[in-house]
Amino acid sequence: MPQTFYQQLLENNKKWVAETLNEDPDFFKKLAKGQKPPLLWIGCADSRVPANEIIGAVPGEVFVHRNIANMVVHTDMNMLSVLDYAVSVLKIKHIIVCGHYGCGGIHAAMGNNSFGLIDNWIRHIKDVYRFHRKELDDIKDEHKRFDRFVELNVMEQVFGLARTSIVQSAWNNNQELTVHGWVYGVDSGIVKDLEVNFSSNEQIEKAYQLNF
Ligand code: ZN
Repeated sequence: MPQTFYQQLLENNKKWVAETLNEDPDFFKKLAKGQKPPLLWIGCADSRVPANEIIGAVPGEVFVHRNIANMVVHTDMNMLSVLDYAVSVLKIKHIIVCGHYGCGGIHAAMGNNSFGLIDNWIRHIKDVYRFHRKELDDIKDEHKRFDRFVELNVMEQVFGLARTSIVQSAWNNNQELTVHGWVYGVDSGIVKDLEVNFSSNEQIEKAYQLNF
């Protein structure tokens, strides 16, 4: 009987366990003791942008949150819970927001088609377009405008992270924590560092600064 795709997944798992144990017999025993990842990754749910592979990380090295278009929506309890656990308990030192060129969520936000429930999520991305309408509308080449929109969206999510009470509280406690913005090229594998690095609440606009 031919193996189904689903059965193949379980076979793949067995093979992976065997190969991993062959290289390091204690691999899973060490992982079972706990995690101390230095990094939180906030990325797109897109299947082409796997957090670990891109940065050559092995299990235990990166705490991951993914959603459509790598958004930091400041009322999203899922994102806030991941962020708080990563910052307050795991004491991660870096947060990377990683967007990617060719992002379907960003593309949807550039147009006016309805996609159902997801329209309400995409609306957050449309807000980013509105903030940067002048710059984006001036880019006549649609492909270049799309690329720039991806970059601007990542930057806005980095700003959003820096404004959270969680990140500001960590800085207030002199915890070492830097927020970064990246864009991944699905057609090249190369990461572009947008060099928007936040490591103190003095870098954010006054209105968002919290006194503890
Ligand atoms: Zn995407």
